[in-house]
Amino acid sequence: MSMISAVANQKGGVGKTTTTVNVATAIAESGSRVLLIDLDPQGNATTGVGIDKNQVELTSYDLLMERVPLTQLRLHSSGAGVDLVPSNSDLTAAEVGLMNAQSGELRLKQMLEPVAGEYDYIFIDCPPSLNMLTLNALVAANRVLVPLQTEYYALEGLSSLIETVEQVRNSRNPGLEIDGIVRTMHDHRNRLGAEVSAQLLSHFGDSVYRTVIPRNVRVAEAPSHGLPVIAYDRHSRGAAAYAVLAEEMLKRHREQTT
Ligand code: ATP
Ligand code: MG
Repeated sequence: MSMISAVANQKGGVGKTTTTVNVATAIAESGSRVLLIDLDPQGNATTGVGIDKNQVELTSYDLLMERVPLTQLRLHSSGAGVDLVPSNSDLTAAEVGLMNAQSGELRLKQMLEPVAGEYDYIFIDCPPSLNMLTLNALVAANRVLVPLQTEYYALEGLSSLIETVEQVRNSRNPGLEIDGIVRTMHDHRNRLGAEVSAQLLSHFGDSVYRTVIPRNVRVAEAPSHGLPVIAYDRHSRGAAAYAVLAEEMLKRHREQTT
């Protein structure tokens, strides 16, 4: 069974897209077949793997609303070594479209089913909202990966995310599990960061990934070059951390499946 991870946190700018793009790239480098689904109208994951979101003709909008088969709209990013379902602002219209559709929350799951077996890992980059798009991701996924910035207010909203995951598990998707929480953009000189980090560990224990992603300027620069930081500057601290995180994730999943 492929691992399908929804990367979600309704708080904006916490590192969802950066984490999705880099973990996907690192896992692809290790030899796995990886699909990245951009489910955010901002299209940052699309740009982040070097695809011009304004030039793509078919996007995740067409997948969800027009039911264009995934095989017809996936692209390949050579920079990241992953297949991509791109997105751009067209996807904004899907929110209302899906709400008005019968069983609109099942659409991504249905469209993914025929191709899921072609991939070892599927990552879904969610928008910063617990909306119909995120709900589609949670219904289609078997794991939820939660990037969290170690700063004040970071934990706020986490309980509503966890509640939503539980609701989805109890209704549409009994196989859904929290994969883990990833601490992102961590500034080790900041005392508050250390406190939030410690709080997370005491609340969520083993579900918190041991690898911490540091704040690193190379990570912020990489998207403007259309490359994951892992490909842009492999020796930067940010790239190294994401490579270690990907290893930790693979190890965690191997342990879960044996
Ligand atoms: P949104 O909610 O808008 O989708 P997001 O949760 O996907 O945002 P990102 O886009 O990944 O967050 O990151 C927000 C910003 O922070 C981006 O400009 C990104 O380049 C930058 N950033 C992410 N991680 C790091 C890091 N480790 N060091 C420095 N900058 C980072
Ligand atoms: Mg994003």
